[in-house]
Amino acid sequence: MDQHTSRELYQEANEHIVGGVNSPSRSFKGVGGGTPVFMDRGEGAHLIDVDGNRYVDFLGAYGPMITGHAHPHIQAAIAKSASEGTLLGTPTVLENTFAKMLKEAITSLEKVRFVNSGTEAVMTTIRVARAYTGRDKIIKFSGCYHGHSDLVLVAAGSGPATLGSPDSAGVTKNIAAEVVTVPFNDAEALERALTEWGSETAAVLVEPIVGNFGIVEPEEGFLEKVNELAHANGSLVIYDEVITAFRFTYGSAQELYGVQPDMTAMGKIIGGGLPIGAYGGRADIMERVAPLGPAYQAGTMSGNPASMRAGIACLEILKEEGVYEHLDHLGKLLEEGILARADRYRLPVKINRLKGALTVYFTTEEVKDYQGAEDSDGILFARFFKEMLDQGVHLAPSKYEAWFLQTAHTEADITFTLDAVDQAFQNMRE
Ligand code: PLP
Repeated sequence: MDQHTSRELYQEANEHIVGGVNSPSRSFKGVGGGTPVFMDRGEGAHLIDVDGNRYVDFLGAYGPMITGHAHPHIQAAIAKSASEGTLLGTPTVLENTFAKMLKEAITSLEKVRFVNSGTEAVMTTIRVARAYTGRDKIIKFSGCYHGHSDLVLVAAGSGPATLGSPDSAGVTKNIAAEVVTVPFNDAEALERALTEWGSETAAVLVEPIVGNFGIVEPEEGFLEKVNELAHANGSLVIYDEVITAFRFTYGSAQELYGVQPDMTAMGKIIGGGLPIGAYGGRADIMERVAPLGPAYQAGTMSGNPASMRAGIACLEILKEEGVYEHLDHLGKLLEEGILARADRYRLPVKINRLKGALTVYFTTEEVKDYQGAEDSDGILFARFFKEMLDQGVHLAPSKYEAWFLQTAHTEADITFTLDAVDQAFQNMRE
């Protein structure tokens, strides 16, 4: 595949943009290096690069593009905003409409606030939880990514609960000391952490279905136990549903498992491809936020008409009948097809799939926590990633990420992808 223009552009990008990318996950560092492909445009479930090569896209821009690219309904919504003004700096009726839609879909949201990214949403839930409880610490789970605010950029230690150490330069030891990290799906470790630090713990922060070391579901009873233990300690439960909201059902993981947190952070899909974040939860907690309460949070771009319209349009598409069944059906075809080929070529592959999202791990063990994902074979994954890219299938360049199905994907896309998997596995055996 001729990708010479991407290589030239990447060279140029490195002269002007740090590392040539505006988000580190877009670099190919996680797959042993190489040149990220520069895309020219998206068309449905496909991406077309600057050399004219076409790819079936399973990155979905790391989650938001559940409808595929340039969906006509979302295009029309954005065009309307462009003609009516994309930023007015006042309240608009669109914010009411969208807030009501979110509340109808996710019943634990009594009050919401729109922000501009998942990072902002999570960061603010933590601030509000601290304001509400008067406590400083949070407990999070190893390997879960919650955006790049200081507090959640803390090393994911496995094994016994540990007080965090900074995961990024620039995050102070004092900040990291406010974070306790325990393994996902390990209620006993959470209980031990709460026994030790419970009286100081404002909130337990969790992705109810992990999306950041691949797709990892909570074991039966785990989310209930998180609620029980946190609440017994007077701590709040915050769900980070930045990936999961509207990914698996019209609503959130809360609707899937029947468990409700005190606060929820959202992002990605709810923006229909434009920048967005939102957080919400119990009214008595949310009322601690300015202008009603002492916890300050603001944003020039928050609730802007363009993001509101794109988000509303996206949810309208997702509300149509059969959408999630379609994603599940294609996800199942992919899972079964990949496993059959792994078997044929005797490659160690495990797949974690929930409906239209899945992760392919090169390992012989089931992956239930971060350690399991970390132990999967990164070298085999890197080889697989490059083989797939060469054949026109666009995956995330990291063994920890998910494949995201889109409403625009067709069975023909899956057949094409499985043929590519076949060839990739065959080449990997040689
Ligand atoms: N929370 C989760 C679970 C995420 O996956 C991400 C981003 O990948 C974030 C928060 C941060 O969202 P954003 O990149 O919009 O700041």
